Amino acid sequence: MLYPQGIKCAVCGRDIFGDNIYGICSGCSFKANIRFCPKCGRAIGATSKYCDQCTTTERAFSEARAPFIFEGNAKLLVHRLKYGGAKYVAKIIAQYLADEYYKLRWEIDYITFVPMHPLKLKERGYNQACLIASALSEIVNVPLIDALERTKFSKNFARLGRKERMEEAKDSFKAKEKLKKKRILLVDDVFTTGATSNACALALGGGSANEVYVLTFCTAQCKTELY
Ligand SMILES: [Zn+2]
Ligand SMILES: [Zn+2]
Repeated sequence: MLYPQGIKCAVCGRDIFGDNIYGICSGCSFKANIRFCPKCGRAIGATSKYCDQCTTTERAFSEARAPFIFEGNAKLLVHRLKYGGAKYVAKIIAQYLADEYYKLRWEIDYITFVPMHPLKLKERGYNQACLIASALSEIVNVPLIDALERTKFSKNFARLGRKERMEEAKDSFKAKEKLKKKRILLVDDVFTTGATSNACALALGGGSANEVYVLTFCTAQCKTELY
């Protein structure tokens, strides 16, 4: 562990004294996601209208939210968790998500997470979404379930465009058990186009058997806006 939580800031590595929030010093802040699409939670301009995608595409989840925009320190922290082996970051992220969760009042029955393909899990050693979800489950006291499996080995989503992501995510997930009339919270690190969240929500029976809500640490800033 490079920067143990509570001693050094998880972003800049400086010593933290009395001024930290969840292991982040007062000098390192994240860009808050204040104006967002009311459906998918992606950051949009000064408007309460739905984003371009939610205007034209049906979403299998009820609502998605993220407290921060995927840039700067928030992006750095996510990268540290995903690619830098910094598993303790999941607990920091979960604390921010807990704040968001209490604000949203979604009244969730189960918390679950975006699964990783077994080959990828073997390569990374852990699923960051699972670590965040499990820490969040402990804080907010909502049971965690391992509800989904990833049936398709996908290439790096970060390199794919929106249409390709949709295509790649389709049929990538399968529910491990049948749930009915439950409110399920799907947790992930970043919401980009919503292709993954949507595919997971679909597999969980979102919009039909169950209601699926999505909570991520960060969300994308929409590039194209409709006014
Ligand atoms: Zn700092
Ligand atoms: Zn939207």
